[in-house]
Amino acid sequence: MSSPELARRRWDLLVVGAGTAGLIGAQVAASLGARVLLVERDRFGGDCLWTGCVPSKALLSAAHAAAGARDAAKYGVHVGDVQVDGPAVLAAVRQAITTIAPVDSPEAVRASGAETATGSVRFTGATGAEVDGVPVRFLQALVCTGSAPALPEVAGLADVEPLTTDSVWDLPDLPDRLAVLGGGTSGCELAQAFARLGVSVTLVEAGDRLLAGEDPKASEAVTAALRRDGVDVRTGSTPVRVTGDPTGGRLHLADGGTADFTRLLVAVGRTPRTGGLGLAAAGVAVDERGSVVVDDALRTTNPRIWAAGDVTGHPAYTHVAGVHGNHAALNAVLGLRRRIDLAAVPRVTFTRPEVATVGEPTADPGPDRRVHTQPLRRADRAIAEQATDGFTRLVVDGRHRLRGATVVGPRAGEALAELTLAVSRGLTTSHLTGAMHPYPTYADPQWNAAIADFRGRLTGRSGRVALTALRLARRARLAIDDRRTGRPTGAGSGRPQIAIAASTSASAPEPADPLELMRPDSST
Ligand SMILES: Cc1cc2nc3c(=O)[nH]c(=O)nc-3n(C[C@H](O)[C@H](O)[C@H](O)COP(=O)(O)OP(=O)(O)OC[C@H]3O[C@@H](n4cnc5c(N)ncnc54)[C@H](O)[C@@H]3O)c2cc1C
Repeated sequence: MSSPELARRRWDLLVVGAGTAGLIGAQVAASLGARVLLVERDRFGGDCLWTGCVPSKALLSAAHAAAGARDAAKYGVHVGDVQVDGPAVLAAVRQAITTIAPVDSPEAVRASGAETATGSVRFTGATGAEVDGVPVRFLQALVCTGSAPALPEVAGLADVEPLTTDSVWDLPDLPDRLAVLGGGTSGCELAQAFARLGVSVTLVEAGDRLLAGEDPKASEAVTAALRRDGVDVRTGSTPVRVTGDPTGGRLHLADGGTADFTRLLVAVGRTPRTGGLGLAAAGVAVDERGSVVVDDALRTTNPRIWAAGDVTGHPAYTHVAGVHGNHAALNAVLGLRRRIDLAAVPRVTFTRPEVATVGEPTADPGPDRRVHTQPLRRADRAIAEQATDGFTRLVVDGRHRLRGATVVGPRAGEALAELTLAVSRGLTTSHLTGAMHPYPTYADPQWNAAIADFRGRLTGRSGRVALTALRLARRARLAIDDRRTGRPTGAGSGRPQIAIAASTSASAPEPADPLELMRPDSST
């Protein structure tokens, strides 16, 4: 769009940043009939497409293919030496990005009815901004500028020109020795990916375990898997100094240890991208971390300006950014008050085994919570595929509602979808047990965990009372039927209903469904 046109119109909604939040925000607002301008200073698609989800999952799939080939002998399949062509792997990663890019392109946005522009936005007041110096007026604005890799303060770090999750995808070939700083999701995923592709990897984490936010058993499973892949995992290790240059160097750790590398990759967290945005001029406050302060409807401290995605400091995931963009657009354009609920945000670490989590923590739950764990070694699908490394753990409250889940194992992210629905909608283990699940799948453990919870309820006092009442009522009913039809009852026994009940249970299940009767939540 030309500069005079940008300046001439007064936009219903100025959207800043064309990552997931901005793309969805702009497209939803346009679909509601608003005059929308989406401005991006770099590449349409944002981090998820160019430097985040897409390249990392593409790299992991190459890595898992290599690991699968090396591992194939356990199925009786012999493939010989596995050769990894580094430039070809990285080219395939870039190809995945290129294939998806049109979906997020300016053309796709304009097809939805929004206008697009390329340039850097800076707010100049409560309802005004500039795009590369060109003035733009808006009724409302939506800030979706995302987050950038954080760099820790370590002496000498800049001298080795560390890679970040922004730049690692531009490597022409795989490095020989990679040191990764940070044992969170990105650090673990990239450490495993490069190790499985044949790179010698050291993973350094300052905390006492990897994936600090997850169930400790999940951390254990991933740590063990990374070590099996050859990653040198150093937890409780703080880097104090880096020596070397961009061709290689040495990491010096507080415990006296060292790690040599040809490239150093930093994955220690993210900082919100708010620098140079002119937020103060717009009356938009940021918190001590630099995240834009929003209420639960994503409104900033300027009631005409909204924010969505990573820049808000909410969990930094594409699905969060997408829901944010949708809700912010609805709230801004239609004056609704759709709220963001962070109680059931699912998250996945795409290592092998995968770690998928939703809701309340599954480790150390409160006294009014029940926990059920099903190991994958009891799941037929996992046994058949020789992939029994993992477990499913559910947290259930006193009203039998699912409150949290951790799934570790193959396809954990897919298995989590049902549990996310359950946690977000307050469903109970009765709801889960009552829905038929296909066999054999990696959803079996969660079904079995729900069944275990339900069985536990049957053996409790109220469950035993209900079952006894049902059983006795059934026997009485059968005895009445027999008397009416003149059928002999109990072959001369003094307790005919017991004999009848015994023969009945041997031939057919009880039609009365204790699951239904036991469902205290069915009326809620
Ligand atoms: C390695 C890695 C792997 C990841 N994997 C996953 C995953 O598997 N699943 C998942 O859900 N999430 C994943 N994420 C997180 C996910 O990528 C982010 O949560 C998501 O991209 C955030 O979207 P956003 O729209 O908030 O911001 P972004 O995608 O960062 O978009 C912000 C845009 O704003 C633009 N911008 C900034 N300032 C201005 C300005 N002044 N003017 C104009 N434009 C501006 C930027 O150029 C950028 O394009 C991963 C992240 C990383 C780094």
